[in-house]
Amino acid sequence: MNANRSRREFLRAGLVLPAVGLAAAGSDTPRPKDPPQLTYRTLGRTGLKVTGVGYGIGYEPNVEVVGRALDYGINYYDTSRDYRESEAIFARCIRGKRQKIHISTKSGSTKKEEILQDLDTSLKVLGTDYVDVWHLHARDTPARIPDEALEAMVRCKESGKARFIGFSCHNPNAMVDFFLDAKVFDVMQTTYSYAIGSGFREKAVQKLAAAGIGVVAMKVVVALTGLNMGRGGAGAPKKEKSEGEGPLAGIKWVLSNPAIGTTIPNMNSIAELDMNVRAMAEPYTPADERLLFAAGERIRPDYCRMCFQCDGKCPRGVPVADVLRYLAYYDFAGSLYQAVTHYRELAPGIRSIRCSDCTECAVQCPNGVRVRDRLMRAQNLIA
Ligand code: SF4
Ligand code: SF4
Repeated sequence: MNANRSRREFLRAGLVLPAVGLAAAGSDTPRPKDPPQLTYRTLGRTGLKVTGVGYGIGYEPNVEVVGRALDYGINYYDTSRDYRESEAIFARCIRGKRQKIHISTKSGSTKKEEILQDLDTSLKVLGTDYVDVWHLHARDTPARIPDEALEAMVRCKESGKARFIGFSCHNPNAMVDFFLDAKVFDVMQTTYSYAIGSGFREKAVQKLAAAGIGVVAMKVVVALTGLNMGRGGAGAPKKEKSEGEGPLAGIKWVLSNPAIGTTIPNMNSIAELDMNVRAMAEPYTPADERLLFAAGERIRPDYCRMCFQCDGKCPRGVPVADVLRYLAYYDFAGSLYQAVTHYRELAPGIRSIRCSDCTECAVQCPNGVRVRDRLMRAQNLIA
């Protein structure tokens, strides 16, 4: 079947229901005239009925926006042990509402005892006795999931403290076979967006979906916002992510793929939330396609598609895709903290490299990213 037709038919068949709980308080910002329409999807074999637009709680949750999302009936929320106070702030937002939502959170550890301890800590901080999905955080190579980590994850599920388990990754191509061969995971959370380029990821995503794995799409809109972009000059005024409808079109595009269980955009304003929730009921149109294509071309020199084709190409050992992703946390997601924190986790020998010392860059990006310029910006800004 033609891929576009398949996407359209899926959307037409989608279950559209009115939002619930709109009378609940939580924000003074005016509500939209018409209540948002929610669509529900099944997260693979977990059987969880999740709203097509979930919520990436992130490092700095905006409690007003989270409260409004809860009122609207958004029911899938993703956080992490690694996101500083994220779980604690989120916990305050969901008091009395635990049964209405699905919570996903993560451990950054590779060690058995730490993973087990992390889950207990998450449960305590979140004020719940189970999480719906318990992930290992950011696993882009099988080496980052040693046997003891696998064992711990299975224990977490068997204990009932985690209903389902999985891991998040930026490179599903490198991880899909490991994921399926392990035969223990239920959910993969991975990068998937128009801007990133589905071509790199589609095969992996389809393989997971065919095996009944729930796929959670992350980084669905960040590239379409252009916050803090260097082109406007460092310190250029921040744009609201709700400016322009690129993010809306981006979520619609992701949701037009039936292989995707849910999306987890991070949202910092009510306007952004109100725009994103529309993606559940509105069709993906040719106008959206044109808008996304134009946005994709605009960001081409600056936004790394995380295709990992340049892995190992820098003779001095710079992990190009990783550093460009850290820079994107600032340039596209507006979080200097996140960018700096990740950069500082690199080995000191890598952190001290300056691309300005090279007369020519050995890394040629097939997607048109100005690798050396972008790395120099990272080394000036977040090193
Ligand atoms: S810099 Fe280019 S080749 Fe390297 S991961 Fe990014 S998009 Fe792919
Ligand atoms: S300029 Fe290119 S080759 Fe030189 S260190 Fe940077 S990434 Fe490596």
